Amino acid sequence: MTTGRVIKNYNGFYYVDVGEPQLVECRRRGKIKEKILVGDELEIQLLGDDKGVIEQVLPRRTMLRRPAIANIDQLFVIMAAQSPDPSQFLMDKMLMTCEYGGIHPSLCINKCDLNRPRAEELKAFYETCGYAVYLVSARENCGIDTLRALLPGKVTAFAGPSGVGKSSLLSQLLHRDDLSVGAVSAKIRRGRHTTRHSEIMKVEDHTYVVDTPGFSALDFDHLEARDILALLPDMAPYGGRCRFSSCLHRTEPGCLVKEAVQEGKIQPERYETYCKIVDSIQERKRYV
Ligand code: GDP
Ligand code: ZN
Repeated sequence: MTTGRVIKNYNGFYYVDVGEPQLVECRRRGKIKEKILVGDELEIQLLGDDKGVIEQVLPRRTMLRRPAIANIDQLFVIMAAQSPDPSQFLMDKMLMTCEYGGIHPSLCINKCDLNRPRAEELKAFYETCGYAVYLVSARENCGIDTLRALLPGKVTAFAGPSGVGKSSLLSQLLHRDDLSVGAVSAKIRRGRHTTRHSEIMKVEDHTYVVDTPGFSALDFDHLEARDILALLPDMAPYGGRCRFSSCLHRTEPGCLVKEAVQEGKIQPERYETYCKIVDSIQERKRYV
């Protein structure tokens, strides 16, 4: 039996990296009922050098749902310091979407050349909230080496709204001037499949980078209001000890979350994000 990782998934075949230059084209055995995702670690039975059958899907450590990618070790949410101008609400929602997938993300602010003061401000803010923050400029090749040093031995995903410079950053990071990552995923997207495909790029043994076309902030409206606090790691520790165990930390008396906001232990902007999302969930419930 050989173990490997699914790198891509095309036409019902899974292409598995087993540590050889050649990917192994695998099909699934009928007995395997679960969905197999890009990033999944598998046990396969080799049939010759480059063909195989999937025997087992190994337990997943993390799972991002949209796009569906298993076993991401670290994820960078990329934002621009300017153009597009960063919205903290969007940034919070992107970060929360990762937490929902079981991944504690880091933040990468690109285009620092355009607005250094704003970038520094965001860095200070999000570091206080418990995220690692990296300031880079793909244009000026600044901060890229620091980011690259974090890749070895891991599966690293990059997510961000379009226009923030994700393709530029990935090309710099991977030293591949010829590779427009955005172009690659666009081509896959335009293909026969209507679902969006992600492909993991192998940088070297045990080191992978994955672009996440179609990653966008979750629509939290379909979650329960009581599950939102857990997605904000800086606020979550204050939950669960309020006077009412059902406290949603809005207008209830004896709320330790609101107390922490007043004492400056929770940033008011983060509490604002929390309130907007919870209120929107409550609003929806009122109409169904
Ligand atoms: P993507 O949509 O996130 O993949 O963004 P692209 O990599 O296509 O970049 C969008 C635009 O931002 C392009 O015009 C890039 O030249 C520009 N851009 C990317 N990185 C930087 C940067 O660090 N500084 C500045 N000033 N512009 C950048
Ligand atoms: Zn409370």
